[in-house]
Parts: sequence; C-alpha cells; structure tokens
Amino acid sequence: MEAPHHEAPAVTLKITVNSPEQMGELGRRLAKLLRPGDLVMLTGELGAGKTTLTRGLGEGLGVRGAVTSPTFVIARVHPPLGEGPALVHVDAYRLGGGLDEMEDLDLDVSLPESVIVVEWGDGKVEELSDDRLRVVIDRAVGGTADDASRGAADGTADEVRDVTITGLGARWADADLASLGA
Ligand code: ADP
Ligand code: MG
Repeated sequence: MEAPHHEAPAVTLKITVNSPEQMGELGRRLAKLLRPGDLVMLTGELGAGKTTLTRGLGEGLGVRGAVTSPTFVIARVHPPLGEGPALVHVDAYRLGGGLDEMEDLDLDVSLPESVIVVEWGDGKVEELSDDRLRVVIDRAVGGTADDASRGAADGTADEVRDVTITGLGARWADADLASLGA
C-alpha cells in the first residue's frame, strides 16, 4: 500500500493492555524512551486510561507530585526529583485556544526542557511540535468473544485496551517503539 505523501508515520506499534497495572507499566517503559522537549499526545474517551498511563510515565521519569486527572486545571508541572526532565501534564480539553493559550499559561517551566503530555490533544496542540508521539487508547468493551477471552486470561474483559502508538516526525523515525511491547 502506498504511504500518504504528506506525512507518513515514522513508526507504529499496536499493543493490547489488559489491566490498569499494565497501563502503568507501559507508561514506565515509555518514560525510558522520552527526552526533554518530547510531546506525547494521548487520545481516548473518558476513562480510557490516559491519566493512568501518564501516572506510570511520571513514575518512570522520576518526577515530584502525584499524577492525577488535570480536569480542574489546564496544566500541572511535575518537577524532576533527579536529573531528568520535568513532566508537564496538560488537559487540552480545557485548552480551547491551542498553542497560544499554552504559552500564555505562564507555567514557570521551560517547555523545550520538559516532557509534555497532553490528554485530549487531537486537533489542538499539533503545532506545538512536528515531532510527536501519538497514543490512541481504545476500550475493547462490548467487543468480540475474542476480546472477552483475552480479558479473562488477565484481568476482566472491560479492562482490555487496544493501544496504538505512532511516532511522527524525524525525532521518532529511529525510535525503538518495539521495546514498549516487550
Ligand atoms: P482517562 O484519563 O482516559 O479519563 P483514567 O486513567 O483517569 O482515564 O481512568 C481509567 C480508569 O479505568 C481507572 O479507574 C482505571 O482503574 C480503569 N481501567 C481499567 N482497565 C484499565 C486499563 N487497561 N488501563 C487503564 N485504566 C484502566
Ligand atoms: Mg484523564
């Protein structure tokens, strides 16, 4: 199949996550791939597991403060406990104006030196960076018998999530996304 001309995904990984614990583990693995200035966009309906993934990511990065849903604030900064980057956790659902508003937030942190994780980011924060890691979390609820049997092996069927991770831009062209599924 011919790749789209405008912007072919650099790399894509599809994995099945069977429980909140596994979602946290995915976040901790993802943290090992991340560098200062990286943008991670999390897409998925309410309750999909975006914040759960971000919590594991914060643990993996070694940042201060509990990662919780940023529903009542637009963004929360988690400073590093050690040498690594800060985690900036953004709820783009409340960020109506996109990039301009993000810069207006006056976060008291250098965005190029931080890892930025955006929930609900689709269509709003792309311009923050051409390079971005897009993570789509889909519930496998009400799915096929196959979904149910997958779930029964580890956790319950309604805890099964299909996670699609796509690296966009030169930053991710050579990234070892396969290490996330190991
Ligand atoms: P979001 O930020 O996408 O709205 P949260 O991470 O805040 O979602 O909440 C996800 C909820 O779903 C939590 O209560 C979590 O325990 C539950 N859950 C069940 N299965 C999973 C899974 N596989 N991954 C992540 N969360 C899960
Ligand atoms: Mg959330």
